[in-house]
Amino acid sequence: MLTDKVDDELLDTAGQQLKVVSTMSVGYDHVDMEAIKKRKLPLGYTPDVLTDATADLTALLTLAAARRIKESIDAVRNGEWREWRPNWLCGSQFTQKTLGVVGLGRIGEAVAHRLKAFGISQVLYSGRSEKPEASKRLQAQFVPFDELLAKSDYVIVCCALTKETKEMFNYDAFKKMKRSAVFVNSARGGIVQQDDLVRALEDDLIAAAGLDVTTPEPLPPTSKLLQLPNCIVVPHIGSATLETRDQMGLMAVRNLEAGIQDKALPTSVL
Ligand code: NAP
Repeated sequence: MLTDKVDDELLDTAGQQLKVVSTMSVGYDHVDMEAIKKRKLPLGYTPDVLTDATADLTALLTLAAARRIKESIDAVRNGEWREWRPNWLCGSQFTQKTLGVVGLGRIGEAVAHRLKAFGISQVLYSGRSEKPEASKRLQAQFVPFDELLAKSDYVIVCCALTKETKEMFNYDAFKKMKRSAVFVNSARGGIVQQDDLVRALEDDLIAAAGLDVTTPEPLPPTSKLLQLPNCIVVPHIGSATLETRDQMGLMAVRNLEAGIQDKALPTSVL
């Protein structure tokens, strides 16, 4: 599981007879790749089958943060719902807005596709390399990270957690965003400097945030993020549909079976 750290210690403990490592996730930042490579172990993972579920949840978080759903639900529960008021709980909509996708991979593209249906008129993306085919499908534009921050109304994080992406969203990055921007992270908590996100929300550098991933996980109930009315946090449920978890489980087991039988893994990182 993504909560298990796969490192030298674990692999040494497993011993010489270890034939294969299989993670029930598409992200593998919990696996020390050097430790896997030096032992020449195959590593299985579960791409594609979770793309739709995770993209649905990311779109949901974007909509929920934009439309102030946390404050709205709290208002109903707290008896603050009185007469209809023109300016009460107004959020932002998607028509003619710009979406910025950090990491236009499988999930990033699927989220952009969904949000275009809500009226997004321009998709920008940043990353290590240009993605010509996805760009064409979405009519998206590859731009430097800073330009994406400055121009996007919605910034969604869909890249892997790596040395390069670790804490790339710090106070400086939030400062470069529009004050009306909504920030959503469904990739990995480590991509965000979380104290800086709290400060950015407190200082009104951005309008709202939606998070499926945090540091640490589980997030302690005392976390400042949970006190903020404009920050929605859900507990890493991106891929949590019955259909997807079934498929992820099957894929993970098939990778294990193949590895044990010295066959090529059906879906392997290495
Ligand atoms: P993917 O297809 O490999 O996409 C990842 C994208 O990130 C690639 O386009 C990659 O570009 C890009 N990237 C790499 N380094 C980058 C950088 N420095 N800046 C910006 N972008 C960079 O993977 P995926 O299937 O879409 O999954 C993406 C991530 O989502 C996973 O790694 C995982 O951590 C997370 N995830 C979360 C959940 C959840 O439950 N919340 C579920 C599934 C996945 P290059 O091809 O150029 O390297």
